[in-house]
Amino acid sequence: MVASDGTFRHVSSGDLLRDAVKRQTAAGVEADGYMKRGELVPDVLIAKMIGDLMAGISGPCTLLLDGFPRTLVQAEVLDETIGRCGAELSAVVLLDVEDVILVDRIAGRRGCPKCGKGYHVTNIPPRVKGICDACGTELITRKDDNPETVQNRLAVYKAQTVPLIEFYGARGVLRKVDGTGPLDEIVERVRQAVP
Ligand SMILES: [Zn+2]
Repeated sequence: MVASDGTFRHVSSGDLLRDAVKRQTAAGVEADGYMKRGELVPDVLIAKMIGDLMAGISGPCTLLLDGFPRTLVQAEVLDETIGRCGAELSAVVLLDVEDVILVDRIAGRRGCPKCGKGYHVTNIPPRVKGICDACGTELITRKDDNPETVQNRLAVYKAQTVPLIEFYGARGVLRKVDGTGPLDEIVERVRQAVP
């Protein structure tokens, strides 16, 4: 979870999950049980964590949810959570990137097995090739970042996530953002797309 300033927070569903498990919140303990059994964490639990996060915020704040919702069911669960918290869904950002670029990005992804810092061979290269800037450990490629798995993830995205484009488009909250180019430019475009 990265808080860039007091009123704008980036919240990835993965970080939210790890944080809830670490802090042993009710939702975190329950989610941990599913993960230990090798099962998927139910959508309602992730939504509960988002609700817990919203409940802990006092004063105006914009949350940028990353990685959730990915399906229509998740979108409906999120609507309920947002409604219950008295919050408002102001925008849904669609980062528009061609498949070939996505595949290249994922194939170039490297990570530090020790400290978890992420890199990309061309977009976010470490100072020394293959070595983590922060701790000097040799970088690795995640098992699920191979081309075959990436193709599979794209197929899942098209089947399950693409329907959200129409779902949110019909509500007038969809903001299509060009997701290509340098990272800082993409971040700026996203910021401008969010009211
Ligand atoms: Zn490291």
